[in-house]
Amino acid sequence: MPLTSDFYTSLPWQKLAASFAGEFYTDFTIRTLYATDASAYRELPLAVALPKTVQDLKALIAFAQAQQTSLIPRTAGTSLAGQVVGNGIVVDMSKYFTQILELNAQEGWVKVQPGVVRDELNLYLKPYGLYFGPETSTANRAMIGGMVGNNSCGSNSIIYGSTREHLLAVKALLSDGSEVIFESLNKDGFAQKCQSEGLEGRIYQTLQSLLSQKDNQEEIRREFPKPNIPRRNTGYALDLLLETAPLHRRQRGF
Ligand SMILES: Cc1cc2nc3c(=O)[nH]c(=O)nc-3n(C[C@H](O)[C@H](O)[C@H](O)COP(=O)(O)OP(=O)(O)OC[C@H]3O[C@@H](n4cnc5c(N)ncnc54)[C@H](O)[C@@H]3O)c2cc1C
Repeated sequence: MPLTSDFYTSLPWQKLAASFAGEFYTDFTIRTLYATDASAYRELPLAVALPKTVQDLKALIAFAQAQQTSLIPRTAGTSLAGQVVGNGIVVDMSKYFTQILELNAQEGWVKVQPGVVRDELNLYLKPYGLYFGPETSTANRAMIGGMVGNNSCGSNSIIYGSTREHLLAVKALLSDGSEVIFESLNKDGFAQKCQSEGLEGRIYQTLQSLLSQKDNQEEIRREFPKPNIPRRNTGYALDLLLETAPLHRRQRGF
């Protein structure tokens, strides 16, 4: 995006900053602080936002759409491959989205916001005899949003698995600002989602169309790394999706 001297004083920026409940920075110092993560990569973002509310997130999405820029969600920023580096707007979730929302100790699940630190979650769970397994080395900094984003795991991943094996559902905002929940779907549930209107429906329709084509299936099975290697975090796990109920006789949910 071309930057002119009056870029940050233009009306869209002013409007976004004025309606924002959280913090919004365009100054060089803060942008420099967020120009890197734990990786060797470095790129100056356009701005840095610390959203406080879901409305802030929706405003950022609408702004990014209108200005044709990108949003870079970030929690602890300990990624090693430049995941949270880029020239769009860094959206730091680590300050205001830090709540543990609900615990069901009997059923063994907990609902958290993305900025909950993994070790702090386990301190909270300890009195209930519960433990969130994936032991990422950076667990005293790494947050659940980033663990989900990276499908993090750790030294005992053969026992504890990786984050996606423990993830029951994700509440998310799509690029049109709509709120969706991603969770395991059986065959009927998947078919129902394919009938939905809007962007959510289009996501499921596209997946169904891509994954049900025989030549795509063959290519995915041929080209993906061995499924018996558990620590595979690169790209989308299309090979695992092929083994789920809507596409395969197996009962495992999509
Ligand atoms: C010394 C060292 C050791 C490490 N060891 C391990 C290890 O043992 N195992 C391992 O898996 N990793 C390891 N890592 C990498 C990293 O620490 C982990 O993957 C960690 O879980 C990332 O969490 P984070 O909060 O720092 O995420 P971030 O780096 O902030 O983000 C990670 C990804 O999640 C996305 N994301 C974050 N929040 C959201 C959100 N709310 N919505 C959408 N997307 C979001 C980001 O855009 C990004 O793509 C290591 C890193 C270092 C520096």
